[in-house]
Amino acid sequence: MDKKAIIFSAPSGAGKSTIVNHIIPLFPELEFSVSATSRAPRGQETDGREYYFFSEEEFRRKIAADEFVEYEEVYPGSFYGTLKAELQRIWDKGHVVVFDVDVKGGMNMKRIFGERAFSVFIQPPSVEELRNRLIHRATDSAEAIEKRVAKAAEEMAYADRFDHIIVNKDLGKALKEAETIVKEFIGK
Ligand code: ADP
Ligand code: 5GP
Repeated sequence: MDKKAIIFSAPSGAGKSTIVNHIIPLFPELEFSVSATSRAPRGQETDGREYYFFSEEEFRRKIAADEFVEYEEVYPGSFYGTLKAELQRIWDKGHVVVFDVDVKGGMNMKRIFGERAFSVFIQPPSVEELRNRLIHRATDSAEAIEKRVAKAAEEMAYADRFDHIIVNKDLGKALKEAETIVKEFIGK
């Protein structure tokens, strides 16, 4: 089977995790790529499930050892990246890998994988709505929320570099749209 990838990118708070978590159980061939990060676990997050959690020092060691397909310092002092070993593990099973990465990471991934990848940008209805969702989600400090919102405004400009844009206003509609494009890409 081909080595395929679906890339979901969005400004933080646009609904990417909600959409990815809905899609994965619907298609047995999909497998979520667990990224590595140097940020601390949030809430109920578990090592190896949402992320592989590393100290910044360990993360930098892995960068030096060329263990990443792609990595970014998404926020100052917070590194995120996809380990080559994680990608290999998923493709070895013949699964289609699903990435949840920031906007820059998504564009890099698309450049790396070309036609084997389908890139999707999840767009919030507005930056104001994004801030409301982050406040409502209640997982980040006020300061972290403002950092994410400032970054979001920049990231929105890259939406049209992606293969597909889903505007996540009505969640039910966005989930259906995601199902349709995934089905089409994996050929069902
Ligand atoms: P991301 O993974 O992009 O950071 P999340 O999936 O965590 O975003 O969504 C951010 C917050 O917004 C969550 O609390 C989620 O339940 C909520 N949310 C997601 N989609 C919608 C929507 N269409 N309308 C209102 N709230 C939403
Ligand atoms: P969070 O801290 O909210 O879990 O994630 C912050 C941002 O980092 C999100 O936009 C998420 O998609 C992104 N991210 C997660 N894993 C990776 C990765 O492996 N590479 C890149 N470039 N970004 C990632």
